[in-house]
Amino acid sequence: MTERYDVLVVGAGPAGLAAAGTAAAHGARVGLLDAQPRAGGQVWRHDVRKPAPRAAREAIAALHGVNLLAQHSVIASEDGALRVETPEGSALLTYGALVLATGARELLLPFPGWTLPGVSGAGGLQALTKQGWPVAGKRVVIAGSGPLLLAAAATLRAHGAKVVGIHEQASPDSVHAFARQLLHWPARAAQALSLRARLMGVPYRFGSIVRHAHGEDAVRVVEIEDAHGTACVDCDLLAVGYGLVPNVELAQLLGCALDHAPTHPHVQVDELLRTSVPAVFAAGEACGIGGLAAARIEGAIAGHMASGHADEARVLLPERDRARRFGALLARHFAPGSRVHALATPQTLICRCEDVTLGALDGYADARDAKLATRCGMGACQGRICGTALAELGRFPRGAGRPPLFPARLATLAGLATSPSDDASRSTT
Ligand SMILES: Cc1cc2nc3c(=O)[nH]c(=O)nc-3n(C[C@H](O)[C@H](O)[C@H](O)COP(=O)(O)OP(=O)(O)OC[C@H]3O[C@@H](n4cnc5c(N)ncnc54)[C@H](O)[C@@H]3O)c2cc1C
Repeated sequence: MTERYDVLVVGAGPAGLAAAGTAAAHGARVGLLDAQPRAGGQVWRHDVRKPAPRAAREAIAALHGVNLLAQHSVIASEDGALRVETPEGSALLTYGALVLATGARELLLPFPGWTLPGVSGAGGLQALTKQGWPVAGKRVVIAGSGPLLLAAAATLRAHGAKVVGIHEQASPDSVHAFARQLLHWPARAAQALSLRARLMGVPYRFGSIVRHAHGEDAVRVVEIEDAHGTACVDCDLLAVGYGLVPNVELAQLLGCALDHAPTHPHVQVDELLRTSVPAVFAAGEACGIGGLAAARIEGAIAGHMASGHADEARVLLPERDRARRFGALLARHFAPGSRVHALATPQTLICRCEDVTLGALDGYADARDAKLATRCGMGACQGRICGTALAELGRFPRGAGRPPLFPARLATLAGLATSPSDDASRSTT
């Protein structure tokens, strides 16, 4: 099946929803696709316990005339079209303009014990919990860096988990300096206060890192180090995330230029969110971590641009610049420090898909050499986790991705329709 849209938007998070709604309001025929079963992206992921926030409901309600394609994953690009895996089979979608609103993922950094059952990302555990994973009564340690730790802790607590502590790796000076800056961002300050109120009684430590997770069949104890020394804490679940990195793999496949500063690449765009490829725009976290407000305003700018309304887009630029400054503030105060970079030992698994240790990568010049010799990065995640961690640790810059972007059915790769039950034939390269 081949279908054509005036404007095709990849990613139905806050940026993609705004882009699709804006382009459709200009009369464009718009397709909005997402790999997930529901629109909302990461921050507005459906929570089984409560209705979506008002902003999310309004963004979805504004999709008049938009063809919302849920459970549609873009896995490759073919001559100006996108190859998409659908619940029924596959489709080729063509477009006049394309908006990439592919968002971000968590930065996971290896440490001894990080592959034990019960250890996950902080946003990862938050996502599982929202989708109904039972955490009631479980003792959870949350660690890593950035405000997502508080958001994850609040979700877990609301679902009945006992959050025994939040361990922020950034120093007390850095976190306090960030908190003082929040005075210039009243909405953000209010959000932070509301989260702290929901987490009343939960210890929130700074300059504190998880060094080791212990347990036979699952995590039972975590070793935590701060300025006062090392302590062991009993727990049932450990959730560790070191902030976010942009999802740029689709942009890379399309040939869009990336900006590699400072560590993890983001899609390079001009002021009006044009990528280096004609008729391809990018918005939200894919262009660099900026948070919800930046994603929404950039989505609207991209929607205007993709439907040919540059003047309306320009009006929004001051608002966008302000929202982006908040992302820069986060990056400055919560970047993972050298203690975190030194946690993995030569015996620590770095590529959990292919069981490759950090020590096994010694002596390779770049990610490609290491991949060919050790299979590091060849598994189901296609290097999204290990390749990103290795870049953060200063070992190798992340190598270029290749299709399929996600595990896909063989029939999808062949461009054939197939039945949804044909999952046995899933493949990766
Ligand atoms: C795990 C996690 C949890 C978070 N929780 C919070 C929170 O609680 N509070 C908060 O303020 N911020 C949170 N954030 C930050 C949040 O990502 C941003 O503030 C905001 O959601 C960014 O919006 P976006 O539209 O740019 O991207 P996203 O919301 O990430 O949306 C991107 C969408 O693109 C889709 N997509 C990507 N690639 C493809 C493809 N190839 N094919 C099909 N679909 C694709 C994804 O499925 C996703 O739905 C979280 C981030 C992560 C990674």
